Amino acid sequence: MIRKGPEKETDGAVRAPRTRAEALRIPILAYHAVNIAGNDYATNDHVAFAADLRLIHALGLRVVPLAWAVDALLGDTTRDLTRCVALTCDDGSDFDWRDLDHPSHGPQRSLYHLMGDFQAEFGAQAQADLHLTAFVIASPEARSWLDRNCLAGRDWMREDWWPAAQRSGRMAIENHSWDHNHAAVPLPGIDGMQRGTFLTVDNATRADAEIAAAARYIDAAIAPARTSLFCYPYSHVNEYLSREYFPHSTAHGMRAAFGDGATPMTLHSDRWNLPRYICGWHWKSPQELQAILREAL
Ligand SMILES: [Zn+2]
Repeated sequence: MIRKGPEKETDGAVRAPRTRAEALRIPILAYHAVNIAGNDYATNDHVAFAADLRLIHALGLRVVPLAWAVDALLGDTTRDLTRCVALTCDDGSDFDWRDLDHPSHGPQRSLYHLMGDFQAEFGAQAQADLHLTAFVIASPEARSWLDRNCLAGRDWMREDWWPAAQRSGRMAIENHSWDHNHAAVPLPGIDGMQRGTFLTVDNATRADAEIAAAARYIDAAIAPARTSLFCYPYSHVNEYLSREYFPHSTAHGMRAAFGDGATPMTLHSDRWNLPRYICGWHWKSPQELQAILREAL
């Protein structure tokens, strides 16, 4: 979807003038804290995350909450988001929040604590708005199966940390679907869906079960905070969700949805398929991330 110039959004906000619209470019980076196959940058998203915070800072860029980028997209022009980056992480394991001892690769500092380490080193004013948006899976049963079948079976897909993370002011808990329709969950797929893809979420029954029900569950856990952002499992974005369900249903409560477009978010970006860069896929070294950020900004 291409947007041209000022236009009115459904929420009644009026778009920023063209000059500001053209200027807004926000790279959104995505991490998976369960990606631990070693202890160096290329094999461990915790190591990469820690290094990337320092790289972003050294390049003179500011980390801001992902919700601020969405606010700007939807018409809020009160914040200056020049030379800003937003950070996200997917799947919602305890590795996001707690330090854990990986069975093969030893102690792992959580993404949350890595932000604290950065601020201890550089001072709280160095990145005053430092923030990480965690897209979590709602279903306790699905998380339990994922813990057993994809992790070490040590109850590392808990939800007890969600409220504390939300309250910390450094993290937001957002929606990564009911069960990811994940192939490692040995239960029948919702509405007969084959597991292992999100492209089959192509009708209202499936979408409400995967997205609206997830929002209700997560909202209850983090109340009074509420989810408003969705991240497509597997980055699978279909026409039904991005063109019909999200724009027209009022059941889901989402303001925007994220895929893996690997471009900076601009005011021309598709609200229901906002681009992100994925660590370990779109970049595998600090040099590659620096090239992305240099080109993006
Ligand atoms: Zn995922």
